[in-house]
Amino acid sequence: MTRWRDLYCGELRIDAVGRRVTVAGWADTRRDHGGLVFVDLRDHTGKVQLVVNPEHAPDAAATAHEVRNEFVLRGEGEVVARAPEAVNPNLPTGAVEVQVDRLEIVSRSTPLPFQLDEEHVEEPLRLRYRWLDMRRERMQRNLRLSHTVVAAIRRTMDALGFVDVWTPSMTRGTPEGARDFLVPVRLQPGRFFALAQSPQLFKQLCMVGGIDRYYQIATCWRDEDLRADRQFEFRQLDFELAFVEREDVLQVMEACVVASFEALGRPAPTRPFPRLPYREVIARYGTDKPDLRFGLEIQDATELTRGSGFGVFAGAPCVRYLVAPRAFSRAELARLEEVAKEWGARGLAYIVVDEGGEVRSPIAKFLSEEELAGFDADPGSTLLFAASDEPIVSRVLGGLRTHLGRELGLADAERNAFHWVLDFPLFERDEDSGRWTFMHHPFTAPVPGREEWDESNPIDAQGQHYDLIWNGWELGSGSIRIHDVEVQERVFRTMGIGEEEGRAKFGFLLEALAMGPPPHGGFALGLDRFLALLAGEPDIRQVIAFPKVSSGSDPLTGAPTPYPQSSLAELGIAAIVDPEP
Ligand code: ASP
Repeated sequence: MTRWRDLYCGELRIDAVGRRVTVAGWADTRRDHGGLVFVDLRDHTGKVQLVVNPEHAPDAAATAHEVRNEFVLRGEGEVVARAPEAVNPNLPTGAVEVQVDRLEIVSRSTPLPFQLDEEHVEEPLRLRYRWLDMRRERMQRNLRLSHTVVAAIRRTMDALGFVDVWTPSMTRGTPEGARDFLVPVRLQPGRFFALAQSPQLFKQLCMVGGIDRYYQIATCWRDEDLRADRQFEFRQLDFELAFVEREDVLQVMEACVVASFEALGRPAPTRPFPRLPYREVIARYGTDKPDLRFGLEIQDATELTRGSGFGVFAGAPCVRYLVAPRAFSRAELARLEEVAKEWGARGLAYIVVDEGGEVRSPIAKFLSEEELAGFDADPGSTLLFAASDEPIVSRVLGGLRTHLGRELGLADAERNAFHWVLDFPLFERDEDSGRWTFMHHPFTAPVPGREEWDESNPIDAQGQHYDLIWNGWELGSGSIRIHDVEVQERVFRTMGIGEEEGRAKFGFLLEALAMGPPPHGGFALGLDRFLALLAGEPDIRQVIAFPKVSSGSDPLTGAPTPYPQSSLAELGIAAIVDPEP
């Protein structure tokens, strides 16, 4: 293969017996045994055992004594079959070993901050010494899985006629709902680029530019708090197509998902993925990203409880409940009430129907026979109620449903439930300001034929926006875009962006939309999240080579770092906080 080795460590099998080979890799372990020295040599393909016999190879044996864990070695010798009692059936190379007569220490290692086979190494330490962590099986597996999937996606996009176009990272702020990272500009002190939260507007301009089908594995930057599935910078499979309708876009994404599963040799989810309207999803599951691997659907009791003797029900615009398949204890109910409160409930009304059919509930005495009979409850179950405005009821029961699904293990871990959520409202009310804002982003087109709405109360405006969900995780969003400048201006106006502000921020888009834009739409898949789920990992840091920790720092390089005032002055900025007081 190269001057350093002629095969990989994990490749040796019994048919190699008698061959003279050169192998190279890291010393995984060294053991001395009755004069013989054994070294397990490791590379990304696996391990092979080297044996050095001081009687046959005194120089190699002397070198072998110096070897410590993670030294890099190059060994030459003959492949021999192990004695039957020494065969290791757990190792693919376990039937053979290399009887080394020439051994070279290629490079040495200082004592290690953690052993590679140590199980519970704290994550900051793993990230601080990521190069060591990467030698371990988990990161090797995850980074290679990521490569396999990205390669499959690129092949699919290429076959579908998509063109990979690079778009700038340094740009104007794009409204994707997060804060921008700013880049000062030495040549124009006091001015800043924003790092692209997504290539949204550039990909739309590619459509106006006649590219027809654009895609990119794009890095996006969003200044948000870091969480299990959030980093400051992350990757999207970002794409856009011209002269299409919603269905055409969904099919491209489904092809990429199926190709990813197939590339990993896994059974692919069946196409087409179910398509569910937003309103129906909210009513049945209380969230726009439900885990459909289990039922536990929300039941409606608004009609049934009109005029109820229980005032909370009678006075609420919306009364709904879940039927959990367990008769919960008081302590369990107290915990569930806490969960309900976290989602915005003031309390949690419940009815427990125990195995014998007996009802336990502080509210039962206020309810009529008819109400009690109307609830859909079997023995051995608990009804959990929410009574309030519809959005709050949905949020609370959606939160409880997700919680119960996890706590009671309701989801079949073997199943993969992919589905689309469609027909989102075009606008939603911002809870803090009370103003109407976009649901997806301001470039999403309304459904055809409904391009006008009450601009002061656009509650009925419906967008051509779609989300892809996998087992309760939102994988990404997209939409058919506005290609009519008047509609674009109407959306801005509805959101309180006046003509002047619209022109100032998005003048280039409005101009482009006035110069022959084709109808177009697209999608962006959160690639790291998709990869983490495929890898069975709990967070995206495990599929990212060099991620940051939750404080927003990189333990490996020590970034971010302060800069001297002189450097800042050159950029026309001054720090008002001393980062190292
Ligand atoms: N730019 C959008 C996002 O980052 C995706 C899209 O609409 O294509 O979520």
